[in-house]
Amino acid sequence: MADDTADLHARHLAGNYAAPALTLARGEGSRVWDDAGRAYLDFSTGIAVNALGHCHPTWVARVREQAGRLVHVSNLYRNEPAARLAAALARRCGPGRALFCNSGAEANEALLKLARLHGRRKSGQEGACVGVVVAERAFHGRTFGGMSATPQEKIQAGFRPLLAGFAAAPLNDLAAWDRLIDARSTAAVLLETIQGEGGVFPADPAFLRGLERICRERNVLLLIDEIQCGVGRSGAFFAFERSGIRPDAIAMAKGLGGGFPIGAIWIAPPHDDLFQPGSHGTTFGGNPLACAAALAVLEVIEAEDLLDRVTGQSAVWHDRLRQVAASRPDLVREVRGAGYMVGVALAVEPRPVVAALREAGLLAVPAGDNAVRLLPPLTASAAELAEAADILGRVLADWPRA
Ligand SMILES: *Cc1c(COP(=O)(O)O)cnc(C)c1O
Repeated sequence: MADDTADLHARHLAGNYAAPALTLARGEGSRVWDDAGRAYLDFSTGIAVNALGHCHPTWVARVREQAGRLVHVSNLYRNEPAARLAAALARRCGPGRALFCNSGAEANEALLKLARLHGRRKSGQEGACVGVVVAERAFHGRTFGGMSATPQEKIQAGFRPLLAGFAAAPLNDLAAWDRLIDARSTAAVLLETIQGEGGVFPADPAFLRGLERICRERNVLLLIDEIQCGVGRSGAFFAFERSGIRPDAIAMAKGLGGGFPIGAIWIAPPHDDLFQPGSHGTTFGGNPLACAAALAVLEVIEAEDLLDRVTGQSAVWHDRLRQVAASRPDLVREVRGAGYMVGVALAVEPRPVVAALREAGLLAVPAGDNAVRLLPPLTASAAELAEAADILGRVLADWPRA
């Protein structure tokens, strides 16, 4: 069995991922089991996707119910889960409208198409106002739009020419963004509130407020990518909420479906009429099963007070991680992030450390800036957070000194 999966995988899947080290067979709560029956504490959560952990009973029940009732109808017809999900997001986002899609990259594509429509409305002319300013180290996905918005050589190499009009400025350097945002030619700025893939770098609240002011002055859309840091991961529903800004549109995906593929953007007025019949679409967008899965995530976040729990427990957890880090200052440069999205920035390549953590029973994810990313499910208990910190402590203690 075990060998079969590894062998079939190696022979028949495209080679765009490094050979995985594990075949995972089953999950429950914060834990997964491999095909040999070994348990792991899962702080990779499918890259910040399994917001409720694995197989949360409410989520499973809601998905089963919907799978037995209606799975797909396309956007030729209305369906109740999509309408209810849009209404539920309205309670979190305020006035505006939702557009559903299937992944993070598709959500960002929708933001970039929104930016083009805004640029046309603003300049009165197609193609005259298409500029988008993004952050250095950003990650916005692997489609052509997403890659164009991701100023990293390792993402873009081999795929040029990309979309025109993108410029990058350092995160939190407001003066640099001020210089790049041009009232005439810039349609939008696009940034993550907490950069994920780039290495868990949070945007400063004051920087976000400054950016909002510049965008309003110059009629430039403020587009916020909350695909990784949103849906409760930071302890707020959206990480930007702590800064008090009002984005013109928000991208979400990953945690939204709790493991079922779904993406969405939220468009605030007066821009929520830019998409008109025919201007955008996707066959699966707003699929009733995907929307039922997302509704289950929102339901459990409220029923179990997960935002308060993440906020309350993360302070103790971060302290513990910092103590562990302080025991090896030669190895750990910084512990940063918010809530259940933490980057442990190392002085060494993170991949061997992630492999050692896996051997010790903890799944984590490497990120930019030599960071080890810890992304527990929002349901993780204080004991599980402490266990992860202890495993990290043991692995760091055993790491050879340079
Ligand atoms: C993962 C991610 C994306 C891309 O999402 P996919 O579902 O992989 O296409 C975009 N932006 C951010 C911030 C992400 O973390």
